[in-house]
Amino acid sequence: MRAEGAFVCKRDRNREYYRKRLINGPEWAERRREYMRGKRATDPEYVALARAREREYYHAKYANDSEWAERKRERARASRRRRRAQRRHNGFEPYEDAAILARSCGKCVYCGEPATTIDHVVPLSRGGPDIESNVVGACLRCNLKKGAKTVEEFVRILHDGGITSVNQVEP
Ligand SMILES: [Zn+2]
Repeated sequence: MRAEGAFVCKRDRNREYYRKRLINGPEWAERRREYMRGKRATDPEYVALARAREREYYHAKYANDSEWAERKRERARASRRRRRAQRRHNGFEPYEDAAILARSCGKCVYCGEPATTIDHVVPLSRGGPDIESNVVGACLRCNLKKGAKTVEEFVRILHDGGITSVNQVEP
């Protein structure tokens, strides 16, 4: 336990702030939105400044904290996939990209090169759900090449190119 009045490091303070924010959740956000709405009417300069400051903050954070930026990007990718799946009523269950990639030892299931993307075996556009059992780790090249094809169609195309196994695809 920390003694009263003892030094509190900035990181602890921030963690506490975000913890509260999480607990308060939507209410906190709604209060803030309300506050900013009022401010916009009475003090638009303040709002513009706050916005600029926020932009600057995130800009710097993206540039300086690559781990954070990657986490942020992964979350954005996940929510894009979820939206795509939900729009189509395909079904969705959350999963961790890292866990999917680890399942194939970080390798692309189609060619064996390092996997950097998540591929839907049955494409979302063909009714495939965004769930763990329908996704595999793939390299960007294979993922783009496969596109909205099923694995069978993808393999057939590889065969037509004189390739007999997906593992023979040149990176
Ligand atoms: Zn690949």
